[in-house]
Amino acid sequence: MRSKIVAGNWKMNKNLAETDALLAELSAKLPDTTAEVMVAPTFVNLTGALSTLESSTIQVIAQNMHFAENGAYTGEISADMLLNIGINTVIIGHSERRAYFGETDEILAKKVKAALAKNMRVMFCFGEELQDRKSDNHFNIVESQLRNALFDLEASAWKNIILAYEPVWAIGTGETASPEQAQEMHAFIRKTITDAFDVTIANEVSILYGGSVKPNNAVEIFSKPDVDGGLIGGASLIADDFMAIVKAI
Ligand code: PEP
Repeated sequence: MRSKIVAGNWKMNKNLAETDALLAELSAKLPDTTAEVMVAPTFVNLTGALSTLESSTIQVIAQNMHFAENGAYTGEISADMLLNIGINTVIIGHSERRAYFGETDEILAKKVKAALAKNMRVMFCFGEELQDRKSDNHFNIVESQLRNALFDLEASAWKNIILAYEPVWAIGTGETASPEQAQEMHAFIRKTITDAFDVTIANEVSILYGGSVKPNNAVEIFSKPDVDGGLIGGASLIADDFMAIVKAI
């Protein structure tokens, strides 16, 4: 079902005590909202986060996972390991995983399938780089990222997919896509999914925008009809900023 979502990707930030303190502040300041609010702390703090948020509606999600069930993959974490501690949503395809850890569309397609096979929800990230936008190739890039990772899924799998369009040039740069650029791309994404699957799937999937969303631009971005929320990096590390963005939805 298409829901409003605000998710905080903490990346490699916050130790155990800092995680606990930020989560306590977030849960105390969480406004009344029908939106789903999620945070993705680092792996080692997931269990602690779950217990700190035990009586909160804030969901704890993972930043990544491996596609294999188990085995000789030093340093990796499987879907079963996440499920076993109580995590059922995972971010896959973040541009930092693609850029710094060599995650190709092929690898990401395997991860998506592995997570869906376990009934996990997948927040799939994708988006063009600056040179793609400058050369007017951004629609092609986005279409191919979606096609390569998601278009051979069963139609029924889409209920567990959340999309996060994150233009790479807007991540952590302070440069935001204008609300019109975000709306234009989100509408294109829905049309692409309509063509590949059907209009019901396209209209039911939540499409988040990510890239320097801050309290001062969130209302305008979230007011666009095809933007269902945001994936937030930097601003999710500051409780008042993150909660201002939650209020904006
Ligand atoms: C992100 O990393 O997904 C992100 C959107 O970061 P920021 O909000 O800092 O641009």
